[in-house]
Amino acid sequence: MLKKTIKFLLHLVIVVLLTVGTQIGGVIYLVSIASIKRSSSKYWLKRLGLFTLLYVLATFLFVPILAPIFGREKIKKSEYIAARTFMTDVLNRNYVRPELNTSLRRISIALHKKHKGIKLVYLDANFPFLNKFPLLPHLSHNDGKKIDISLIYRDKDGKVTNQKPSVTGYGVYEDPRSGEYNQIKKCLERGNWQYDFTKYITFGTIDTNLTFSERATKDLILEILKQGATGKLFIEPHLKTRLQLNNQKIRFHGCQAVRHDDHIHFQLK
Ligand SMILES: [Zn+2]
Repeated sequence: MLKKTIKFLLHLVIVVLLTVGTQIGGVIYLVSIASIKRSSSKYWLKRLGLFTLLYVLATFLFVPILAPIFGREKIKKSEYIAARTFMTDVLNRNYVRPELNTSLRRISIALHKKHKGIKLVYLDANFPFLNKFPLLPHLSHNDGKKIDISLIYRDKDGKVTNQKPSVTGYGVYEDPRSGEYNQIKKCLERGNWQYDFTKYITFGTIDTNLTFSERATKDLILEILKQGATGKLFIEPHLKTRLQLNNQKIRFHGCQAVRHDDHIHFQLK
């Protein structure tokens, strides 16, 4: 009896984690364990094999066909648009409304005109299905209208580069300098412990020689703001001041969110 309960709980934890992380993985896991009986030899291996096969087929073949029914499509990559990590696509965190794809294309072309060879690098967007199904840890990424974009950096020779300081694109911050307004300290002092939680999800830092490119990042932000479809943009207040940005669309995301000095968030109206 105890063994059965533990097994059930283990399955439950796996289903929840897969659903929270990938949206479709939990259902595919259930299908896999239902399809292969425990009496079968090496059933764990067979289940794992079936899960992997179904997951890959679903992610790269079926979900892209079904997502438009829910008003979403994959982010269209191009010469100028790239994912920070292929895991974003593998985990189905790369879906947006068609209007957002149009905006991304326009922004990336304009950015490339100003900074040749520099790509618009996206991080988490939305899952393919269902409004109000959040893409954790971003509570608001639940309707196809939201996307996170990497800041832009310069390499050790001072040249603007497509490299980013962390594997996921999150968690390496462009901290407030002394004298700059420190919203991070304020939020942490208020008890919003999750405000700098993203420091735990870098999955490794790559290049510590990179420095923040104020000019290229500002140009990127200005192009985002120029789009008629853009509703709001979030960036940490000290960077807004440092980049001398002044636009009604730039808002403060609030202490209940996470800090935005490692990425830019923007969303459709
Ligand atoms: Zn976001």
